[in-house]
Amino acid sequence: MIYKDDPALIRSFLEDTSNIKTGHTPGVYFPESIEDVSELLRENAGTGKRFVISGNGTGTTGGRIPFGDLVIAMEKLDRIDAPLQRNGDQAVMTVKAGVLLEDVQKKAESSGWLYPPDPTEKLCFIGSTIANNSSGARTYKYGPTRDHIARITVVLAGGDILDIPRGKYRAGKDGMFRIDLALTGRLEFNVPGYTLPLTSKHNAGYYSSDGMDLIDLFIGSEGTLGVIVEADLLLVPAPEKTISCLVYFPSLDDLFDFVQKAKRKTGGVDPGALEFFDPNSLDFIRRVYTEVPEETAGAVYFEQETTMDKEDEQLEAWFELMESSNALTEESWVALDADEQRAMKAFRHELPAQVNEWIGTQPESKISTDMAVPDDAFAELYHFYRSTCEKHGFRYIIFGHIGNSHVHLNILPSSHDEFKTAKALYRDFVKKAVDLGGTLSAEHGIGKLKAGYLVSMFGDEGIREMARIKKAFDPNLVLNIGNLIPEHYYRAC
Ligand SMILES: Cc1cc2nc3c(=O)[nH]c(=O)nc-3n(C[C@H](O)[C@H](O)[C@H](O)COP(=O)(O)OP(=O)(O)OC[C@H]3O[C@@H](n4cnc5c(N)ncnc54)[C@H](O)[C@@H]3O)c2cc1C
Repeated sequence: MIYKDDPALIRSFLEDTSNIKTGHTPGVYFPESIEDVSELLRENAGTGKRFVISGNGTGTTGGRIPFGDLVIAMEKLDRIDAPLQRNGDQAVMTVKAGVLLEDVQKKAESSGWLYPPDPTEKLCFIGSTIANNSSGARTYKYGPTRDHIARITVVLAGGDILDIPRGKYRAGKDGMFRIDLALTGRLEFNVPGYTLPLTSKHNAGYYSSDGMDLIDLFIGSEGTLGVIVEADLLLVPAPEKTISCLVYFPSLDDLFDFVQKAKRKTGGVDPGALEFFDPNSLDFIRRVYTEVPEETAGAVYFEQETTMDKEDEQLEAWFELMESSNALTEESWVALDADEQRAMKAFRHELPAQVNEWIGTQPESKISTDMAVPDDAFAELYHFYRSTCEKHGFRYIIFGHIGNSHVHLNILPSSHDEFKTAKALYRDFVKKAVDLGGTLSAEHGIGKLKAGYLVSMFGDEGIREMARIKKAFDPNLVLNIGNLIPEHYYRAC
């Protein structure tokens, strides 16, 4: 197995997109097989060495950043098999963890299938998206990554290789998992007693439900329980056609009314994605796309899968809905073919590009939220974000997955004082979202950056329950320490 410790060659492994700059490591291992990962962990068990798992570094929470840990880089585990049809409307594709999401999607599409999870960032590894239960615009229709994983293989901290097809390992009626491992013997632990928020997206802490499946514990566990090395992905038939549209509104009330009606499928519409841009986001996009109307309170991007036969009728249903919510129909943009849809995607991607360019000229990094709330609490969280930012005179944008009541607030500080104020307010945003029954993270996860906030959601006992599960899998505390669970909880359980 290749090992590199030349600082010039391993520098990139010290960062992700979280802006944490203090990572350091003695070196990076590049396993080329599942057995390499197992051997590495088995041989180092009991030596006190710690490891952090590295995907492609697009994570936003510092999860892959080492603080003295050795790095396990997943990039050489990059095999991708052809889709195998299971029945008329499902196929399975086996992939190793270091395959790029972009390549998974292309491979599926080339044979008429769709892998639905679509985080905005495509240059992430598939193993990381499973470890982080990643999601994107299509999650509104298809759910997060969790819903599209049929099997995973994991290497545990002691070197055991565990194959977990969905349905094989379930918690007993007493809430216990009991699993016999070849190398390290019997593993026993309780399903956490906490309940998860009633949001349609959630990615903060270990999953929990009565009689749960072990695979669901690993999905979203951010590499704290084992290294995901292989997975079977579930594919669905690619749609024959897609209607895409960007629609502007004169007022926020009209926009929210449209979203509510679309979610109720009023008039026969059936959205696959519902995404939001506030006026400040549109200001950034207007730097490049001057046609974005000035007099607008915001825009919604929607998508609907359709067929040649039904396209006209469904488009008509959307136009009626737009009219009924006073949309600025004349200024709106409908994309019905692949070229137009690519152009619309470029338009949407202009937002992060412009924001990042602007941030690059500023002395401070942005403060971003990733919270979601139950649908009936969305307007309250939105107005709280807005009024707090206006009160402090911040430059900010709000955008994202309004269909899942999950929008991102980005505060863009122009001074260190503003940065400090915004950072302090982050705790208020977490409290508000949790008080409204929401989640601290709907998709980006907790990593190292947000571990200190997780207790606001689950309380001390909830975090202790997670720490107990972590210690059952990893008694010597070897893997991804500092992620998700603040370290002092290991001493307290
Ligand atoms: C511009 C931008 C847009 C984004 N949009 C979205 C979005 O829409 N939705 C979304 O969900 N996320 C989004 N993200 C976040 C990010 O892309 C995802 O979290 C992604 O899953 C990270 O993949 P990666 O390969 O870069 O992982 P890394 O950053 O390298 O690692 C992320 C975490 O996963 C762990 N990990 C990696 N591989 C494994 C493995 N094989 N087994 C166990 N643990 C592992 C790491 O230890 C770390 O904790 C976005 C990021 C950016 C920069």
